[in-house]
Amino acid sequence: MKYDVLVAGGGPAGVAAAIASAREGARTLLIEKEACLGGMGTVGGVPAYGPFYDEDIELIGGIGQELLHKLMEDDLIPEKARNTRWYAIDSERLKRLLDEMVADNGVDILLHTYLTGVTGEDGHLLSVECVNKSGKFNIEADIFIDCTGDGDLAVMAGAGYEYGDEEGRVQAGTLCFKIAGFDTDAFLKYAQESGEDGNLSLAVARAKKDGAFVPNEMSVCGIGIYADGVASFNFGHVYNIRPLDSDGLTRAEMEARAALPRLMEFIRRYVPGAENAVLAASGPCIGIRESRRIVGRDRVTRADYDKRAKHADGIAAYNYPIDLHPPVPALWDEDKNKSLYVTSRYKHGESYDIPYGCLLPAGLSNVMVAGRCISSDRAMNASVRLMPICFGTGQAAGTAAALCTAEGIKPWDLDTDRLRDMLIANKCIIG
Ligand SMILES: Cc1cc2nc3c(=O)[nH]c(=O)nc-3n(C[C@H](O)[C@H](O)[C@H](O)COP(=O)(O)OP(=O)(O)OC[C@H]3O[C@@H](n4cnc5c(N)ncnc54)[C@H](O)[C@@H]3O)c2cc1C
Repeated sequence: MKYDVLVAGGGPAGVAAAIASAREGARTLLIEKEACLGGMGTVGGVPAYGPFYDEDIELIGGIGQELLHKLMEDDLIPEKARNTRWYAIDSERLKRLLDEMVADNGVDILLHTYLTGVTGEDGHLLSVECVNKSGKFNIEADIFIDCTGDGDLAVMAGAGYEYGDEEGRVQAGTLCFKIAGFDTDAFLKYAQESGEDGNLSLAVARAKKDGAFVPNEMSVCGIGIYADGVASFNFGHVYNIRPLDSDGLTRAEMEARAALPRLMEFIRRYVPGAENAVLAASGPCIGIRESRRIVGRDRVTRADYDKRAKHADGIAAYNYPIDLHPPVPALWDEDKNKSLYVTSRYKHGESYDIPYGCLLPAGLSNVMVAGRCISSDRAMNASVRLMPICFGTGQAAGTAAALCTAEGIKPWDLDTDRLRDMLIANKCIIG
């Protein structure tokens, strides 16, 4: 197999990269190890897309915005349950929609296909090695885009990376899950009357007052209501997680699954409307918030975040606060008002951007990265990991890769003004 552009990983970044690349005329293959596209939004069961808007200001345009509109056209979400800032994901609808979008745009796709290695020399890749039900095989391409979240491809190719905090610890993982038999009307009435914030802070406070079990140091995160009677929960933490080794992942999945009955006990007792709810499904995979950050030509940092920095070669903009979940319970900040998530929040209208060089792994001539694993420091990564901005970096990488293959140039040599013009023409918000 030989392609112009190969995209590894079919999460938000990978889907946007593959569609953008194919739209610009590059012969594009997307490989994904799971059975569907969507990444954490489907296989991770994450309940909601983060903000695409800053109130009246569009933050994320392009392919991410197209997807959002398609989801909203015919979703199951009753108007009463729709949250204007966060968009609750119906993961079954999302899986089908992404299948349609990649097919309609002429992307070739292989699901159930694991990237296992690379061939090439001197920082120039020739092919990736994959394994799936058909066996082991190689796929050649001119340009490779790593959207695995973990930076698997770039690291196999020799890229350097940063990992975790100063002690090598990463943010806790969460096995998201769905409940059925939920009286959504009762919950929404309660939420409106009580001011419950969707993070279930009041429910947790009640449980703590009762001296009842509060899961994982009150690691309450989020609830997404995407249809009457059901809801998704981003709830519960697995600490000391090791997302890059199979033993670590196995233990994390099992630990998280074992905790689900206790989480359900809490939900049934303290979340109005959930008294008779049942656990409908988990995962399917544990959600990983943090792993590798590939070392790139540029690197966005906390200082960039604080300065609301804009760059001459900015390719995507965002404003989400620094959202660092603790790697171990001892680091849990009990006072939410003092947490970085609250204190780092931008004012209305403010944003930072991501320079193109964050998509270019140092030392590799024909590999790009997009999504969670772009070149950033740890604090900044806790903002750029949100799914909407992953669509943005993905679209930029896919567009750049297609431009490069059409002109026979390397991503490092691309005229970024040209790239920015194309992104703007394709309705991306880049700064
Ligand atoms: C518990 C949790 C809650 C979150 N809550 C929110 C939220 O509410 N809103 C929000 O916007 N964001 C949220 N996030 C962040 C967000 O979901 C992720 O950071 C985002 O999905 C990253 O996008 P990505 O495309 O880079 O990677 P991913 O979504 O992780 O997709 C990577 C894809 O690559 C595939 N892959 C990995 N390795 C290989 C390989 N070797 N071969 C082939 N395929 C491979 C994976 O199967 C996956 O489909 C949350 C994350 C977690 C874990």
